[in-house]
Amino acid sequence: MGILHPPLMPEKAAARIRWFIRLRWFAAVGVLIFVAVGHFLLRLEFAVLPLVVVGVSIGLYNVVFLFLTRKIQPEGKWGDRFASLQVGMDILSLTVLMHYGGGIENPFISYFLFHTIIAAILLPWRKMDVHVLWASICIIGVAVAELKGLLPHHHITGLLPFELYDNWKFVTIATFAIVTTLFNTSYLAALISERLHERERQLAEKNAVLAEQDRIKSKYVMRVAHDLAGPAGMITSCLKLVTQGLTGSVPEKSLDMIQRAQHKSEYLGDLVRDLLSLSRIKAARKIPKSAVSLEEIVRQVFEDLEPHVAEKSLILEQNLPANLPAVYGNADAIHELIGNLVANAVKYTLVGGQVKIGISNTGDEVLVKVQDNGVGIPAEAVPHIFEEFYRAENVKAEAVEGTGLGLSIVTQILNTHGGKIWVESEQDKGTTFSFTLPIDRGSDA
Ligand code: ADP
Repeated sequence: MGILHPPLMPEKAAARIRWFIRLRWFAAVGVLIFVAVGHFLLRLEFAVLPLVVVGVSIGLYNVVFLFLTRKIQPEGKWGDRFASLQVGMDILSLTVLMHYGGGIENPFISYFLFHTIIAAILLPWRKMDVHVLWASICIIGVAVAELKGLLPHHHITGLLPFELYDNWKFVTIATFAIVTTLFNTSYLAALISERLHERERQLAEKNAVLAEQDRIKSKYVMRVAHDLAGPAGMITSCLKLVTQGLTGSVPEKSLDMIQRAQHKSEYLGDLVRDLLSLSRIKAARKIPKSAVSLEEIVRQVFEDLEPHVAEKSLILEQNLPANLPAVYGNADAIHELIGNLVANAVKYTLVGGQVKIGISNTGDEVLVKVQDNGVGIPAEAVPHIFEEFYRAENVKAEAVEGTGLGLSIVTQILNTHGGKIWVESEQDKGTTFSFTLPIDRGSDA
């Protein structure tokens, strides 16, 4: 029943008003159902036509409210006024229903509580008080007017064997009970709602502080990784000169040790580079964005990976539609994103395998799929692969090297672009990563 759940408190007024309008469809249909059940099933005698008219009217004025929600910006004081108007109308409709459904004898009289609780959730204290007062006046007004004969009483024949609307003791006690219930309940609802609101605000503040601290930490990691990158690259280059024999001959035993040291320093270089990428994205408050052509990026990525593809005799395929719109993002970040996914597909696919990239326009976004028929991901590892430093057991067993940071970088990049990523994989069969990117609205015509 997700559509009936109220949005969390600090949500914009528009979201809360849309929720309120959704509830009202149920109320309108509910009235018609109650009338039908009472009349046809329970064979009660009451003023069917006026109740049907009110049910239909609730539906009709809800259409108007829906229309107005789309037309105006219901934020700030206009949001409160709009919500207030709606609660006021609903209380009036319920009063008419109460009158035609037996007045003070109406068993649904407690439904006024819904309206006052909704007012407590949607509106500030003072406006809520006005509505509770308005509901009380309506209830007392109908009850007293019927008691005094100013309004005709519509009895529900077949429900109560006697009439109570003209018994002043009953009318006094019943109206007192409902009015005090309305005041107490709405006061409690407003209190709880306000506390939640306050808690929500405090959480949002704490979240902002934590995000800022995380950003400062990422800046620190970025600085360290940046300082390590130079020496790590230098060590690898020096060792390469030695292992390639450019510095003269090296005894067999020493060469083996130096090759191992070179291998580890290359891994160190990869780790430092990935740490630098990840911390740079995390440390940035905002990254510059513009229209980016994915065709061009895919071409560059394929070109970068060509040596690895050739080495493993892989078949590399691309399926891009003719008029693919540009996406809105940062070209370097998107290059890194696609580069990481295709590099993984190449890395985790066995000799002679296949790697495909397919891109399509879903209308709202661009959908990219990177597919391989490689080693796949064990089912128990799938929920963890986007975690930092996580590597599945099957790739560790195959001694395929990696830092475990590639997919974290991918996730961070997609977060900054408002994109989503998901994976489908079967061990020993292959893996498909799918992700979305927003279309550049200046170029999708
Ligand atoms: P790594 O440097 O280990 O590749 P990633 O963060 O890129 O780190 O990936 C995390 C883990 O997800 C990998 O170690 C591997 O277990 C799994 N994985 C990612 N892509 C694939 C793929 N295309 N095929 C199989 N496993 C994959």
